Amino acid sequence: MLQELIGGARRIVFFGGAGASTESGIPDFRGEDGIYRQPYPVSAETMLHIRTLKKHPKRFFEFYRQNMIYPDAKPNAAHRKLAELEGAGKLSGIVTQNIDGLHQLAGSQNVVELHGSVLRNHCIKCGKEYPLEFVAGAEGIPRCTECGGMVRPDVVLYGEELDPAAIDAAAGLIREADLLIVGGTSLTVQPAASLVTCFGGTHFILINLQETLADRYADLVFHEKIGEVLSQIAVEEAMRE
Ligand code: NAD
Repeated sequence: MLQELIGGARRIVFFGGAGASTESGIPDFRGEDGIYRQPYPVSAETMLHIRTLKKHPKRFFEFYRQNMIYPDAKPNAAHRKLAELEGAGKLSGIVTQNIDGLHQLAGSQNVVELHGSVLRNHCIKCGKEYPLEFVAGAEGIPRCTECGGMVRPDVVLYGEELDPAAIDAAAGLIREADLLIVGGTSLTVQPAASLVTCFGGTHFILINLQETLADRYADLVFHEKIGEVLSQIAVEEAMRE
């Protein structure tokens, strides 16, 4: 059935979240081993709030470095299969809530990053840009080498708004899709999650270890690992259908 739906589709769009990267060793937030299940004295939502960055930057960067950046993570089977589907002209784009850059590392070209990326960072005073390694390797608060301003990640923190251009691009992709695959997301983070309601195409596949509120709308639901499910797709065969 999965293979048939892929074979019959012309414009597949993938909408994903943190669960798409757990098989690369990056923990999610709400899954079984997620960050929310760890015994931190302060919630991740508070630690990753714009207020914490402004008022307690040292604490923010301590948490951020320990929990949000994984410089050695590599794309997994899910990232690779999605890149292959795009290369074959079956998939028109990816909308991700992830900030790890792994889709692009796997070779995907059209990726809308709703929450930004840990790979991009900039000085809040002069705008100078910095790579991930700069923030990962800094002691305490990362400081601009030009002006001494704080260098922050281009990541949308709690309390900050999403880039309207990213929302438009994501909504446009999803609206034009004929097959939507939603995977590795609890669909609880707004406004990102509500973007899936833009979908008006033919088929909807949901791949998530835990149940989600959208399960009942899907043609196919897998409560299995996304890398294992997507690995079952034979792209060459799908191109013949
Ligand atoms: P979430 O943690 O709320 O939900 C992840 C879901 O993925 C869970 O329901 C879990 O059951 C499922 N899951 C975990 N591993 C899976 C696997 N191998 N296969 C299939 N399903 C799997 O994540 P979310 O909905 O993306 O929302 C969390 C927010 O946190 C996002 O906005 C994102 O920006 C951020 N975040 C990003 C990363 C990352 O970039 N890798 C990691 C953690 C959190």
